[in-house]
Amino acid sequence: MIISVHATFGAAIASLIPTHPVEGFVLGFASHFALDLIPHKDYDLISIERDSEGKAKPIDLVIAKFKFVRDVLLVSFDALVGICLAFMFFFEPVHPWIFLIGAIGAILPDFIVFTYLLLEHKTLGHFYDFHSRFDTIINKKLKKKLSQAIGVVLQFCTLVVLIVIMYGLKVLFIS
Ligand SMILES: [Zn+2]
Repeated sequence: MIISVHATFGAAIASLIPTHPVEGFVLGFASHFALDLIPHKDYDLISIERDSEGKAKPIDLVIAKFKFVRDVLLVSFDALVGICLAFMFFFEPVHPWIFLIGAIGAILPDFIVFTYLLLEHKTLGHFYDFHSRFDTIINKKLKKKLSQAIGVVLQFCTLVVLIVIMYGLKVLFIS
């Protein structure tokens, strides 16, 4: 799923246990993989698409740089939206950092993956492979069928439903 959805959900889950920041971080981190298992369609990152073979012309280098900058801006914007949503909905003055701890835990897996794609470091490659396992066959089908905009809208619908269920259960069983 996209970073803003992960961040908001991570903040939501950590806010359930505001006095346990370490557990909040771990739960946020774990929630990333649970969310990635839910069928979804992400926006495309154009800099990691493999170009068709052929001799590289100088213009290709310019295009590659443009694609890279575009992706970095898009991912940064996505992360910023996520932190803002997490803050808006889950900031508590009594435990001011818990929303951020959960959000960071939840976006860390994608951060590691993105770092791997940039540096192609072997150690991170194992994590990349592990993370890829959560990209289900259904997601690959959705990738072709859905537009990126609808994909993102549906992810936010999924997010709202999950948070409503989670907080509904909290009200039922804890409060
Ligand atoms: Zn992911």
